[in-house]
Amino acid sequence: MAAVAPYLTAYLVVVGLMLGSFINLAANRAPRGESLVRPGSHCRSCGRHLNAIDLLPVAGYLLRGGRCATCRTPIGVSAPMIELVSGGLMIVAIAWLGLWPGAAVGLTLVALWGLAVVGRAFRNRSADQLS
Ligand SMILES: [Zn+2]
Repeated sequence: MAAVAPYLTAYLVVVGLMLGSFINLAANRAPRGESLVRPGSHCRSCGRHLNAIDLLPVAGYLLRGGRCATCRTPIGVSAPMIELVSGGLMIVAIAWLGLWPGAAVGLTLVALWGLAVVGRAFRNRSADQLS
């Protein structure tokens, strides 16, 4: 068990980072009434479809220098920050409570974080339309 825990923890943190990636996508698309599934992730500026490197949470942002690899449009620091917080919530929950129930608490925290981020995106969207 003790030998397995570091791998499971790493796996759960990666799950947290990927959920953070999905939170970004949902916060970006849901307020515009766009599908969360289609089209696949793409650059809003030049339309290029994102590949595996672009989609790596945090690492993709760093590898690309925070810009689209094709048109160099800045991605914005909020995307990797949201991913980092999601992964960080998993780390904190597991460090605090152990693998179990830390994993369950971590997933719950990431879900609440996602709701907060997407909710904020909706509010910002309605503010845009008012101005
Ligand atoms: Zn682009």
